[in-house]
Amino acid sequence: MHILTATNICKSFDGTKVLNGISIEVTKGQVLAIIGPSGSGKSTLLRCVTQLETVDSGEITICGERLVKNGADGKAVYSDKAACSKIGLHIGLVFQNFNLFPHLSVMQNITEAPIRVLHRSKAEAEAAATELLKKMDLADKADAYPCQLSGGQQQRVSIARALAMNPDILFFDEPTSALDPELTGEILKVIRELAAEHMTMVVVTHEMKFARDVADYVVFMDNGTIIEQGNPEQLFGNTQNDRTKAFLSRFN
Ligand code: ADP
Ligand code: MG
Repeated sequence: MHILTATNICKSFDGTKVLNGISIEVTKGQVLAIIGPSGSGKSTLLRCVTQLETVDSGEITICGERLVKNGADGKAVYSDKAACSKIGLHIGLVFQNFNLFPHLSVMQNITEAPIRVLHRSKAEAEAAATELLKKMDLADKADAYPCQLSGGQQQRVSIARALAMNPDILFFDEPTSALDPELTGEILKVIRELAAEHMTMVVVTHEMKFARDVADYVVFMDNGTIIEQGNPEQLFGNTQNDRTKAFLSRFN
């Protein structure tokens, strides 16, 4: 079953094409890794799929519901606002810089959306958040504020916050790149555990070993296009593509 299908996505900023006909698909339980140099359009792609940006053209379907399609003139036509909000509920997003609410406690950060958007009772939302905090090894941090936590802890809170909405698909945009190397491992471990539980995920990452181990499928982007895609063995172990080779050689 397809959780996400994005077809021929195009997006320009100020006349410059940043996404030039990108297509990706993710089936249930699959982990898709997106790799590529800085500026290649990875974040823009995630932002388009998660409704933080609009596309100029292309089609996106999430959990069988059409977010956007091409109109007769080839330009993007979005579903109505209510449908878009509903589709948004299928999605979780974890950013590079955690994006926690600084004035809210860890518990409040996690329960805010379930209470406000899903209309969960406070008790129910807090019980679920407590479980998630245990899972993230943060059981004792419920009353702490983001500024009192390490970067790795903040990132685990933001993963718990995303999971609290029970998303069908979770997107990570370079979840470890704002962290010191010694904190990177704890986040990668959490994502590995989610993968083992068959959480459907799209992970933009510069951690090549992690991508090779965890991803079912890898997409290499450069300059707003997909240069190569395939299973990790093929892409990391046996690429014949010169641009992929040049990119990967930076990590050796
Ligand atoms: P990546 O995540 O692969 O590093 P981005 O998607 O962040 O790449 O950026 C791709 C290109 O789009 C870059 O040239 C960037 O400067 C440009 N870009 C991204 N967001 C905006 C924006 N809101 N306005 C103008 N240009 C943008
Ligand atoms: Mg980026």
